[in-house]
Amino acid sequence: MNFNQNIIPEHKKAYRYETGEKHKYLGCYYPLSIISTKEEPHVTLQGSNIVLYTDDSKDRKENAFILDMWYREKAREVFVPILADAVVKAAPYKKMLPKLRIYRMLDRWGSCSPKSKILILNLELIKVPKPCIEYIALHEMIHFRYPSHDMGFYAALSNLMPDWKKWEDLLNDKYPI
Ligand SMILES: [Zn+2]
Repeated sequence: MNFNQNIIPEHKKAYRYETGEKHKYLGCYYPLSIISTKEEPHVTLQGSNIVLYTDDSKDRKENAFILDMWYREKAREVFVPILADAVVKAAPYKKMLPKLRIYRMLDRWGSCSPKSKILILNLELIKVPKPCIEYIALHEMIHFRYPSHDMGFYAALSNLMPDWKKWEDLLNDKYPI
């Protein structure tokens, strides 16, 4: 993994959750708009803004929580079809339908457990470009057949996604974990 001093990993950032502050979603930066509401707090993507409706626009913790819930909702929406695709692609190597779990992990983008047939994707992947998520999903699917990073693993990966290195480099360079 490349070490890039200029880019701070997402979990080490001290966000203020104020209007104008930029937050990431699928590889793009969106300025946040904080709007007070008496309705149920929620988040919407409106044009080039992430709009956060909150009952207390000054409550940083609460607003962080509302945004986090939105990321979790979006992660499920985005990751499910991506994993379904990876399952189909990986079928020539391993036919299996894993259960998807989405967790925030501090040291890896994904992992899999052949024993319990669980594939975990890092919640933080909702902030990176879609092809990077596709790469991680496929990478983990191939691990069900090849548990370690051996020749068989890379042969399968290169066969199913010839440009995988580009997406791995992009993750390491621009979205360090
Ligand atoms: Zn791996």
